[in-house]
Amino acid sequence: MSGHIMLTSHSRGSGAAAAHPIQWGAATPAQRGPIIASVSAPQHRNAIGTHSGSYAIYRALAVAAGNLDRGHRPDFTDTAPAEAIGPHPQWADARNIVSLDPYGHMVASAFAEQIAAGVDIRPTIAITKAHINMPELKAAIDAGRLRPDGQILMANGDVRVTKAAIDPVWYLPGVAERFGIKESLLRRNLFEQTGGMFPELITRSDLKVFLPPIGGMTLYFFGDITQLGKPETRVACRVHDECNGSDVFGSDICTCRPYLAHGIEVCIEMAQEGGVGLVVYNRKEGRALGEVTKFLVYNARKRQVGGDRAETYFARTECVAGVQDMRFQELMPDVFHWLGIRRIDRWASMSNMKHGALVEQGIEVVERVPIPDELIPADARVEMDAKVAAGYFATYTPAASDELALPKGRGLAE
Ligand SMILES: [Zn+2]
Repeated sequence: MSGHIMLTSHSRGSGAAAAHPIQWGAATPAQRGPIIASVSAPQHRNAIGTHSGSYAIYRALAVAAGNLDRGHRPDFTDTAPAEAIGPHPQWADARNIVSLDPYGHMVASAFAEQIAAGVDIRPTIAITKAHINMPELKAAIDAGRLRPDGQILMANGDVRVTKAAIDPVWYLPGVAERFGIKESLLRRNLFEQTGGMFPELITRSDLKVFLPPIGGMTLYFFGDITQLGKPETRVACRVHDECNGSDVFGSDICTCRPYLAHGIEVCIEMAQEGGVGLVVYNRKEGRALGEVTKFLVYNARKRQVGGDRAETYFARTECVAGVQDMRFQELMPDVFHWLGIRRIDRWASMSNMKHGALVEQGIEVVERVPIPDELIPADARVEMDAKVAAGYFATYTPAASDELALPKGRGLAE
C-alpha cells in the first residue's frame, strides 16, 4: 500500500477524463466510452464516486481490516448477462436516461480490450435468472385467479423470472435538467448534504458522471424479455418502492406487500398472454426518508390526539421529515427508456406521482390497475384513504372528509 493519500479533488497532469472521454447518450458503447470509477487506479478515473453504492463503505472496511486486497480486480469469467437487453433507440438520446448506465451490463464485453490493457472498468448492471415463490401466488392459484401453465407459473407457485440488478449512475447535467435546476446547484447540495464526501462535485466540473452512494433497483421480468422494445408487445408493470417492514415481514400498517403480490399476479397474467410483466423494485425505503424516520412517523401517527386517521396522514410525516415524500419519481422513467418500453398496457399502481412522471417522459399508460379492495389490510385503511383523498388513482369513491377524520388505525400498544 502506498504511503501517500491520493487526493481526487484536482486532476493530475493531462487528466484521465481527457484520455477516456464520456459522450453521454452516444449510440454505441465505443462512442460513449467506459465509465471508470476505479479507486485502485485513480489515474484512470473519469467519474465521481465509486461502485456498489452504499456498499463501498463495507469495501473500505474489508480493505482496512486486511480482508480484501485494495488492488483486487474482478474476474468476469461466466458473468455475462443471462438475457440480452438492448441496445434500444432510446439509448441514443442523452435526455432519455440520466440515472443509470444503459451499457452497464455490457461492460465486460464492450470494453474487453481496455480491461485487458489494465483499466479497471466494472459493470453497474447484472442480469440473471431465478425461480421465485410467494405464498400469495399459491393463494391466487387456489382462489382460481392464477392458472399454472408449467412454463411461467408452476403448480406449486414457483414462477420463472429473469432479474436485473442496477446500480445508479448519474449524468449530472441530465439529472439537473430533469429537476429544472442548475447543475451547479445540484452539485453544491450533493456535496454539502453528504458532509463534503465528494469534493470533485465542486472542483471537477469537467467530470459529469457521478456514482452516488445510494441503493439502486432490481427488475423482475415475467415472460420473454426479448419481446421488449417491439411496438406490438404488451407490457404489464408495477414500480414498487422498498418497504422492508411490509415487503419482507408482512407488517400490516401499509399496503406495500399486498400491492407487490398483486402486481406480480398482473405481471404473470400478462406473460401468460404472450406479453411481458415487469416489477421494478426501487431501494427507496420509507418514501426515501429511511426507516428511522418512518418508525418515528408511525409513533407520531398512533400517539396523536384523535388517533391514527387519514386527514393527518401526510401532515405527521411532514412534521418529522420536513417533507411528505423524497422519492422524486422524476428519475424513475429512465428504466423504461432503457428497456425500450414506450407503452405500458397494464400499470399496477395508484400513485399519481409515478403516473405523472411516466407521462412527462412520453411513456403511455393504457390501463391503471388499482389494488383490489379485499387485499388492503385493516390497519392500512388510513394510508389508503389519505392517498386516494390526495389524488391517488382508485376505482372506488374517496372517503368523505368527515370520514377522513375518523381514527381507523390500531393504537400503538394494541
Ligand atoms: Zn409500506
